[in-house]
Parts: sequence; structure tokens; C-alpha cells
Amino acid sequence: MSKDWSKATKAVHAGTRRSQYGEVSEAIFMTQGFVYDTAEQAEARFESAGPDEFIYARYGNPTVAMFEDRIAALEGTEDAFATASGMAAVNGALMSVLKAGDHVVSARALFGSCLYIAEEILPRFGVEVTFVDGSDLSQWEAAIRPDTRAVFFESLSNPTLELVDIEGVAKLAHAQGALVICDNVFATPVYSNAVAQGVDIVIYSTTKHIDGQGRALGGVIMGTREIIRKTVEPYMKHTGGSMSPFNAWIMLKGLETMRLRVREQAETALKLAAALEGHECLSRVIYPGLPSHPQHDLASRQMGAGGTMLAIEVKGGKEAAYKFLNACEVGIISNNLGDAKTILTPPAFTTHQRLPQDQKDALGITPGLVRISVGLEDADDLLGDFMQALSH
Ligand SMILES: *Cc1c(COP(=O)(O)O)cnc(C)c1O
Repeated sequence: MSKDWSKATKAVHAGTRRSQYGEVSEAIFMTQGFVYDTAEQAEARFESAGPDEFIYARYGNPTVAMFEDRIAALEGTEDAFATASGMAAVNGALMSVLKAGDHVVSARALFGSCLYIAEEILPRFGVEVTFVDGSDLSQWEAAIRPDTRAVFFESLSNPTLELVDIEGVAKLAHAQGALVICDNVFATPVYSNAVAQGVDIVIYSTTKHIDGQGRALGGVIMGTREIIRKTVEPYMKHTGGSMSPFNAWIMLKGLETMRLRVREQAETALKLAAALEGHECLSRVIYPGLPSHPQHDLASRQMGAGGTMLAIEVKGGKEAAYKFLNACEVGIISNNLGDAKTILTPPAFTTHQRLPQDQKDALGITPGLVRISVGLEDADDLLGDFMQALSH
């Protein structure tokens, strides 16, 4: 594969491994194990397996390897390890680099399960975690210490769409020798420049935009070959969080169309945000692609677009938000994101239900807030639907 290929070409060709049949569409190698010609070959493979030599699907599999090589080529990392879910990736990245006595600085605005790992699991294993407001560089600076082993954040937070200044945080972290670990789901691989901006380990839940059609769970951990093969792989392959070959095939094929889907979704998101801003029934429209977003300049620099997610705050709190949600006919009420279908979520009562009220207040997760994952429907159909639903 040529390193000079653009992302569009890599998305359909990178990582392809063809069997003796020369299939066009990548094969699903639905097998746990691999046959050795001789006992000597088995011994040699356990000693050291080459890139096209496999032992057991928990360690690696040709379909999974195709997905790993393709996403690594797109993200611009040397290597990748595919995991059973996004949370297997977050847990695997953190657990494989951390040990008892280490210090971590983490943004507070995290996906619920990420917060559980940082708040409940890591301290149980002797890792000290300091939480900061991820959008405030001075808090990162104050919290990162000489013994800080890693910093962790979501580059664009859920559901209030606050950005972390990746370059700024990476400079502070690297000055103290800390690894930068970024859950980049909301930015998507399409709008990511995470490696160039200083991230050492990039994580995606592939369940979201990479599948993009709401079918399967998956995740991926990316970084240098050294980190992925020497640190992440041993942890993942021995603890059982590897991606299944079937799901890897879904994700691999998802990558072929991801750019087209995500760009279209982001374009529609911008249209919707611009049209909804100032609506008399809404107290806020949050979208990083709008000049009214407090970090609009950072979003333009860091992602080059506003992304596929927006959030609106319906005046009148929970009751009004529920009336709006229940009246929507095109958008559906669910909690995945990055899907071809537009998905609406009231975070205060679903994904972030368990957060104590003071934390919801601090994060701006108000009763009237509705998170919108913009899908592939016609922008005017969506806008018409939202307008009629708001009139309720
Ligand atoms: C969905 C999500 C995860 C978890 O991914 P799963 O595939 O559901 O395990 C982690 N981080 C972020 C930001 C997410 O949106």
C-alpha cells in the first residue's frame, strides 16, 4: 500500500488481504484457530508470528487485521488493536499503560462508562485520578504533575459538545512525560488530526460512525507499533476483549463509506443548527460549527468542521422536551449516535440519569436538553419535522 494515498483511497484499499480466490469484497474469516502444516511450524509461530500468521482469534485474525490496518492508515498511526466494544478499548488502553501508584488527569465531562472506569475502577487498583474541566487549559496545567503517567479526555464532550484543546493539553502533558490518551468518538476519524496534534493513544468506539448503521459493537486502540504491540496487545489478548471477525468485517466495510456519510451528516447538522438557532421555543442551540459556540475557532482549527452532533435546549424543561421528542416523526428516540438514522436523546433522563444533580448542573445537562445525532435523512425533512414537533 502506498503511504502517499489520500484518505479516500486508503478507506477502500488499505489493509486488504486477498485469499487464493482473489475475492473483491474482503472475506470474513470466521475461524477461532489456524492449521499449522507441521509441528515445527506451530512452534515457530508461537515463538514469533509474522503479520500474516495467526494463532488464535483472541490474538488476531485476518479480517480483524484488515480492519486494524485500514483504520490505522486512515488515522495516521503505525498500528491499531481492534476491541469488542468502545469500552473494551477505553478500559484496555488505560489498564495496559497504568499501574498502582500512577497519577492520571482526566476531563470530568466523560461518557458514563468512561467516568465509571476513571472514578471507580482505577482508584481500586491504586491509580490516583484528578478531574478537571477539560475545556480550561489552566486546570490541566495545575493538575498535571511530574508523576502524572497519563491524561485522558474526550476531544468533544457528550452531550454538551465542549472541546478539549488537544494541542494545548498535549504540550502540557508531554512536558511532564505523560501519555495523551484521547477518546475521539465525537470528532470521528474524518475530522481527526489527533496524532499530529500530539495524541499518543487514539480510541474510537466503532459502534458509532465507523459502523454508522447501528448494527454492531466495536472499538479500536491506535498508536505507535511499540505501544500497540508491546503494551496494549498483551493486555487485550490475555484479557479477552478482542473484536470478533464478523464485527471486524462490518467495521471494515463501514470505513469504505464513512467519509461520505460523516461529511453529509456534518453538513446537515450545520444546516439544522443554523436554522434552529434563535427559535422562540429554544433557549440554546449548541453546535461547534456555529459562530455562537464559545469554542468555534478552536473547533474550526482542530476539526475543520462542527461534527455530526448537536444539542438543543427546549424552553419549559422536561415536560416541553418530552413533548418535542414524542412529536418527532423522522428522528427516533434512542441513545446510539453516528447512525444513518437521526437519533434524539434526553441526556438528563437517559445516558446521564445517574449523575448527581450538582454534576449535571456543572456540566450543563439541563432537563430541557435534547442531544441530536444527525443522520442521513434529507435536511429539509428533518428541519420540517423538528419545526412541527416544536410547535407542540
Ligand atoms: C459510545 C461511546 C463509548 C463506548 O462505546 P461502546 O461501543 O458503546 O462500548 C465510549 N466513549 C464515547 C465518547 C462514546 O460515545
